[in-house]
Amino acid sequence: MLSNRIQTLSESLTIAITSLAQQLKREGKDVLGFSAGEPDFDTPQVIKDAAIRAIEEGFTKYTPVDGIPELKEAIAEKLRRDNGLHYTTDQVIASNGAKQSLFNLFQATINPGDEVIIPAPYWVTYPELVKYSGGIPVTIETDDTTAFKITPEQLEAAITPKTKMLVLTSPSNPTGSVYSREELEAIGNVLKDTDIMIASDEMYEKLVYEGTTFTAAASVSDDMFERTVTVNGLSKSVAMTGWRFGYCASADRELVKAMKKLQSQSTSNINSITQLAAIKGLDGSADADIEMMRQAFEARCEEATRLFNEIEGLCVIKPKGAFYLFVNHKAIEPDSMKFAKAMLEKAGIAVVPGAGFGTDGYFRFSFATDIETIRKGIERIAEFVKSYR
Ligand code: PMP
Ligand code: GLU
Repeated sequence: MLSNRIQTLSESLTIAITSLAQQLKREGKDVLGFSAGEPDFDTPQVIKDAAIRAIEEGFTKYTPVDGIPELKEAIAEKLRRDNGLHYTTDQVIASNGAKQSLFNLFQATINPGDEVIIPAPYWVTYPELVKYSGGIPVTIETDDTTAFKITPEQLEAAITPKTKMLVLTSPSNPTGSVYSREELEAIGNVLKDTDIMIASDEMYEKLVYEGTTFTAAASVSDDMFERTVTVNGLSKSVAMTGWRFGYCASADRELVKAMKKLQSQSTSNINSITQLAAIKGLDGSADADIEMMRQAFEARCEEATRLFNEIEGLCVIKPKGAFYLFVNHKAIEPDSMKFAKAMLEKAGIAVVPGAGFGTDGYFRFSFATDIETIRKGIERIAEFVKSYR
């Protein structure tokens, strides 16, 4: 009954493990969850107020597929103000989360057999969506020695005549690494004489630590502006995961039109109420809340990194952004699926095995939870590691 296409698709591992942890908790098991890629903070009040107003004023009907003009203006203005990127409103499109933005993007650009370069460790969804579009994910392996960033030489070696696109995620889920302007320029130099596009996933843009500067890939040169599709949203930086808002921006108006056409036949516009709320997340109204959350994440990042590095057999590079630690456990156990499963069963700790992100021997620990739970969780992990054989 099922299509061949759907049978090749895997369920999102991050979501699957988070659901399992929640189910175990409901059953009364003592489980601490560090698998969710979701801020524990509430959505800022100024955003909620805009949504309440939208409902009360009856803003509850269909809207244009790609978003109301005010929302598209707010997206373009945000990209100009924060990133120095000059897009017009017909170069942006709002979707149901950055996940749909990526889905639209791959569906609208990938032909059967096209190769998409994805640096590993990668966010679980990219290879699945590429395959679903008929494309071939080509991974570039990275490790702690380059802070999980690809080098220009690695990129050069991965390019073939079939390469259509490179996916970049900075700050990265799951490693928290951030590409500097110079590193992005070096990537741009490798691609200069090619038609290869970049999908730049900038979801964690606002969550950078220790004075790290975020650089948007499209902003490093005119050439990069032309070839880069910027993907972003408010789920992570403004704690709006449930509202479902993401967007794409591209210099190529035909591409934006194509994504709009696809969306017109699948989900139509995003929720009208979310659109008025999202404007407040984009226009600076929630900046103080965003900074408060960033500071809390930074303190947790500091503490969790220190505590993990005190555990014999584990080590982790301090992330520059996002809210994950990608913890190396190779000295104890090379098989991350086995290790994470045992951690859940024996210690009641839910983390995501590195294999799900294409890199074995690690687990992803989300520090998007309160500091006391983080301390308690790492204490339990330390006990678990001691007894592991
Ligand atoms: N990109 C990255 C790197 C992510 O971690 C996520 C996680 N949800 C997304 C995109 C999608 O976010 P959303 O669909 O909630 O906007
Ligand atoms: N992106 C988040 C994560 O990595 C949320 C879950 C998902 O969409 O995969 O955990």
